[in-house]
Amino acid sequence: MNVESPESDSPPEGGLDLATDTFLMEQALRQAQRAYLDGEVPVGAVIAHEGHIIARAFNQVETLKDATAHAEMLALTQAQAAFGDWRLTDCDLFVTKEPCPMCAGAIVHCRIRRVIFGCGDEKGGAAGGMLNLLQQPTLNHRCTITNGVLEDRSRQLLREFFLEARLKRKSAPDGS
Ligand SMILES: [Zn+2]
Repeated sequence: MNVESPESDSPPEGGLDLATDTFLMEQALRQAQRAYLDGEVPVGAVIAHEGHIIARAFNQVETLKDATAHAEMLALTQAQAAFGDWRLTDCDLFVTKEPCPMCAGAIVHCRIRRVIFGCGDEKGGAAGGMLNLLQQPTLNHRCTITNGVLEDRSRQLLREFFLEARLKRKSAPDGS
């Protein structure tokens, strides 16, 4: 793992959109790294309102023993609490991996404006990978999608995690 992002919570002043996206994805990656250190599948998310972070979370399924405790779900709950409203109309969600159908459903319910993700998930992703719930014409809200922001680093972190998990299983005395 290699973290070299600035400590500040705000993106560079007057930066291009791309610089802002990269900055905010860095922050999501930091969350993913925290998940990694906790032995959780390393996915992290932040929600930004006008470029400022209002929620940050990482996957906590094992810690909370809750299959719904994906980074995006926890971040949405935080953002709704921060706003005192379930409508997150002007908010953008940055997540290191393409959202699953559960999270994509919640993202649409909260009316998130943009979803920016790192690596895609063609087997289980619901932002264009397996299916596209974020832009379903029949639903009452659609999000703008940007994919592939810091894609390699997001994917690498997941690869390292699953490789390590396999090695641990192999070296377990009972082989389980
Ligand atoms: Zn999810």
